[in-house]
Amino acid sequence: MTDANPESREVKSQDTPVQDARQSSNFLRDIIAEDVRTQKFGDAQIQTRFPPEPNGYLHIGHAKAICIDFGLADEFGGKTNLRFDDTNPEKEEQEYVDSIQADVRWLGFQWERLCYASDYFPQLYDWALQLIKIGNAYVDDLTADQIRQHRGTLTEPGADSPWRNRTVEENLDLFARMKQGEFPDGSRVLRAKIDMASPNLNMRDPVMYRILHATHHRTGDQWCIYPMYDYAHGQSDSIERVTHSMCTLEFADHQPLYRWYIEHLGIFPSQQIEFDRLNITYTLLSKRKLIQLVQEKRVHGWDDPRMPTLSGLRRRGFTPEAIRTFVAASGVSRTNGSTDIEMLEHFQRDDLNRRASRAMAVLHPLKLVIDNYPEAKQEFVEVANNPEDPSAGTRQVPFSGEVFIDQDDFREVPPPKYYRLSPGREVRLRNAYFITAHSVVKDATGNIVEVHCTYDPLSRGGNSPDGRKVKSTMHWVSAAHAISAEIRLYDKLFTKPDPGDVEEGQDVLSNLNPNSVEILTRARLEPSLANAKLEDRFQFERVGYFCLDPDSTAEKLVFNRTLPLKDSWAKIEKKAGA
Ligand code: ATP
Ligand code: MG
Repeated sequence: MTDANPESREVKSQDTPVQDARQSSNFLRDIIAEDVRTQKFGDAQIQTRFPPEPNGYLHIGHAKAICIDFGLADEFGGKTNLRFDDTNPEKEEQEYVDSIQADVRWLGFQWERLCYASDYFPQLYDWALQLIKIGNAYVDDLTADQIRQHRGTLTEPGADSPWRNRTVEENLDLFARMKQGEFPDGSRVLRAKIDMASPNLNMRDPVMYRILHATHHRTGDQWCIYPMYDYAHGQSDSIERVTHSMCTLEFADHQPLYRWYIEHLGIFPSQQIEFDRLNITYTLLSKRKLIQLVQEKRVHGWDDPRMPTLSGLRRRGFTPEAIRTFVAASGVSRTNGSTDIEMLEHFQRDDLNRRASRAMAVLHPLKLVIDNYPEAKQEFVEVANNPEDPSAGTRQVPFSGEVFIDQDDFREVPPPKYYRLSPGREVRLRNAYFITAHSVVKDATGNIVEVHCTYDPLSRGGNSPDGRKVKSTMHWVSAAHAISAEIRLYDKLFTKPDPGDVEEGQDVLSNLNPNSVEILTRARLEPSLANAKLEDRFQFERVGYFCLDPDSTAEKLVFNRTLPLKDSWAKIEKKAGA
């Protein structure tokens, strides 16, 4: 059988500086604007489609296609269909159909019509008969291997199949019997009769139908012949009166075939336009490879927070707004490039900085005892929920004579330039008081288990009573009020900027980062976090952005780190621009 998988001839990536992509005009928009101006499609409305194959979950690369398909149609007052390209029954499942719809909606888009290529099987079959009748298609008895051998190469023409010149009657009879299930899988195919010497290998009598006795997730056992991608896609576009069928560059070589079918059938002239795939450093964007991570249990499912799937990013705490902003900023072009993952992270931080509620959480707790704080006294300090957004209001956080601080915020012997707490030094507990450390308590093995300090009651609210300055402000959680939670810290899933860059004989999984997740079990959090909901987003002050994980139960809360606070994008961008 001919190579039916357009992705197998992936266009080689070349590095395009992000700057260029961002400044380049959107050539897709220009094409549509020109078609509207010249009334290329008469008074038909601009119609696009997003056509995922339901063989996996959507990833952030698909988000780019979604933003383009829905975004451009919307700009021109048009509509977008969500169409499942479900022509490979063996790989497709209802679970994927459901997740894809949920993800498109989550990203913020609503389709006009929900369509399935499988709904068009009867029409596609009739059109195949039409092509047979006008002498443009034939049944071939060669095996898949023989077809490949006859196909020729880029430099040599292919050879005609001995079955190429069957009569129309014989072809009609055999094709009908293929449909009726008379022949075993792989014994025959229907091919378009085009040109075995074409310089474009896709035009060398491509396969239109193969025999496959497989149960389809929607049509069941109704069909035992299935159309190939190239035959189904353009015709489905045409049925839906899609004006602009936008897809990624690896389909460019298929465009002549896309046009050939439409022209020979004389149907609505949908038009294919290609744009560059989104590639992101350290990130694998291919459903076929992501499914391997899931099946081999290298991750905990499609929505593992380390996955670049939309469901994984959502669980990790990424927002649709940030993903859309990132996709727009990474631009469209006619050559494939690669975008730094730091740019995605930058847009996500930017969004969360504006919207996330602040909270205090101590990931590696160390107990701080305030010796002069009145015993049994408890009070509340008022804290802004989001200093970036006064409308977010304030909350009351309990304070008492024993608080947890982070182990990193205390050194018994401070190294040079260490301005946080150490014996004799005064610092601020954020929104609470100035404190000065005095002594430590150690366990039998010499680990510090408690730090003792005194506080200045006049510095309430964290303000100096007499203009005294401190060099450090630290977050804290009242020990008596703190809640516990499991914290999951994530790192990149792959160790190389291009995960596909592998040694001979290895596969991408050899580049998996063995330390892509770290689980902390001793974290102590301010009590308000007990009410966190899945859709909430938090900035744990001085630590990073976090969200609740669906693994949480009433007994055990689990928080995912979306991102640490530090943004390295500005630096990278500056270097690229220099
Ligand atoms: P994968 O290789 O991950 O399986 P695919 O191209 O096979 O992806 P489809 O379900 O066929 O996935 O894709 C639906 C649409 O999304 C297609 O139009 C495809 O061009 C587009 N798309 C897929 N990956 C990307 C990407 N990385 N960047 C931009 N668009 C993409
Ligand atoms: Mg595909």
